[in-house]
Amino acid sequence: MDEFRWEKFIFLRRMLIWMKLPSFLRCSRRDCGRTFDLHDRILACSECGDLLEVVVDPGEIDPCDLKRVWKERRTSWDELDASGVWRFREFLPGYNSAVVTMGEGNVPLVRGRVAAEWADVEDLRFKHLGWNPTGSFKDLGMTAGMTEAKYTGATTVACASTGNTAAALAAYAARGGMKARVYLPAGQASANKLAQALDFGAEVVQISGSFDTALEEMLGGGDRDVYFLNSINPFRIEGQKTAMFELMEQCGWNPPDYLFVPGGNLGNSSAFGKAFIELKQYGFIQRVPKMIIVQAAGANPLARMWRSGTTELEIVAQPETVATAIRIGNPRSWRKAIEAVRFTGGTITDVTDKEIGEAKAAIGQDGIGCEPASATTLAGISKLRKSGEVPRDASIVAVLTGHVLKDTEYIIKRHEELSAQAV
Ligand SMILES: *Cc1c(COP(=O)(O)O)cnc(C)c1O
Ligand SMILES: [Zn+2]
Repeated sequence: MDEFRWEKFIFLRRMLIWMKLPSFLRCSRRDCGRTFDLHDRILACSECGDLLEVVVDPGEIDPCDLKRVWKERRTSWDELDASGVWRFREFLPGYNSAVVTMGEGNVPLVRGRVAAEWADVEDLRFKHLGWNPTGSFKDLGMTAGMTEAKYTGATTVACASTGNTAAALAAYAARGGMKARVYLPAGQASANKLAQALDFGAEVVQISGSFDTALEEMLGGGDRDVYFLNSINPFRIEGQKTAMFELMEQCGWNPPDYLFVPGGNLGNSSAFGKAFIELKQYGFIQRVPKMIIVQAAGANPLARMWRSGTTELEIVAQPETVATAIRIGNPRSWRKAIEAVRFTGGTITDVTDKEIGEAKAAIGQDGIGCEPASATTLAGISKLRKSGEVPRDASIVAVLTGHVLKDTEYIIKRHEELSAQAV
């Protein structure tokens, strides 16, 4: 009799270990912390209006075991295992329905040589998230967000975008059998990104004004049937955070000293911060890299705030930079981003368009290439080297966010100008 009960107990305990505990949504404002059902289809806390975050409890896990399982999945042909996002599904919401994936993630860590010399550092590697299916890191968030959209029965998905989110949304909506609508600031997104959105069959709504206006217009539309997939969508953050799981794996779970990230709407920095908090909390890493957010000088509300020491963000009304992917004056995820920088002991800086252009050329000479927004990272490294904030022998990873072919007009124009000056 007693023995029988004991067996039952062991069986139940094992079930608990295998089953993940249910995930939920929580207000990201620490002094509010209100919780909501995971599939509530809301983008802000109904109590205080702040952003939400997904809370995933992976249950009883052994970091050593999971590290091995994650690595083994790289040799599997299973669709979920083959995705560099869903490979880490123990830390993502669980779905018993089909996941919308295109084998995103699994991008290499590439050593920078010319770039390292240019920035005067010895140990520089690029995590190139631009080598994803649609050419930017937005795919990582989109597979998670689109899977949630499909799960909740959405038929139309929408986003405001400086271009890359639109391309990713259009592609993943097509994969998931949903209609896509994208709001773009007229004449500001690069032709290459617009072309992608069109090719994947999205309805393109051109908004006069900046990205910030486009986002407001979209959110103000109040269309109940449309599922919004901007980076304020907490499911996108979950997908994007896996980039850091993958990076830590590639570093042998031994984090670099510094991680440089471009800052636009600050979804990426928030997602990376969340990843480091979780990885440390569950014992996957013992320390975290110092995260440095780099903004463009013409669209630098967070860098300004950091420098001045104020506690509220002052919007940049007319953001202006060649790095169109981060031409954003009113970044929504700024609180989360600041928290992430504080947690990692990092800092926030900004660089001029001229510095971005020179850094981008150095990355190009390594045969790697990227779009202007991504080059803020190398420009930022150079700047913090000159100021002495980053030592020469530090180990550094710079996140490249977009593919070199994302903004070809910028490259052609730059080289025309350079050859005109040479004459
Ligand atoms: C979206 C984007 C960014 C900005 O990322 P945030 O998460 O909004 O800070 C930077 N670079 C590229 C290429 C992008 O597409
Ligand atoms: Zn709240």
